[in-house]
Amino acid sequence: MFDPKCLFCRIVRREIPAMILHEDEGLVAFRDINPQAPTHLLVIPRQHIASLNDLLPEHRDVVGDMHLLARELARAERIADEGWRVVMNCGPAAGQTVFHIHLHLLGGRDMGWPPG
Ligand code: AMP
Ligand code: ZN
Repeated sequence: MFDPKCLFCRIVRREIPAMILHEDEGLVAFRDINPQAPTHLLVIPRQHIASLNDLLPEHRDVVGDMHLLARELARAERIADEGWRVVMNCGPAAGQTVFHIHLHLLGGRDMGWPPG
């Protein structure tokens, strides 16, 4: 549930500062410290889930809520109409560096495809 060595668990517990935009009983959203687009937010569950490889049927609501919150945040950031991207990296080859699942919400510029 909580990993004291996990950076994002420590942000959830406010042991490490972050630019938090939203908190509710299940999720926390904050600005990425190294933004890759004018809007670059991270949506994370309070619960420690290391990666999408660890996702279980009981997490269905968590990942659903992460996407619903992304939709609200895209509206709040005024990028809903122009378009925005969700990225969830899973594992080292995909570029996952923090092993607590997080949804990247990126927007405010044109995105290339396919992603690198
Ligand atoms: P990933 O590479 O998909 O695991 O994404 C991890 C993301 O966390 C990267 O985009 C980092 O810039 C971001 N990050 C790392 N440390 C912090 C922090 N203290 N506050 C906000 N974002 C962070
Ligand atoms: Zn964690």
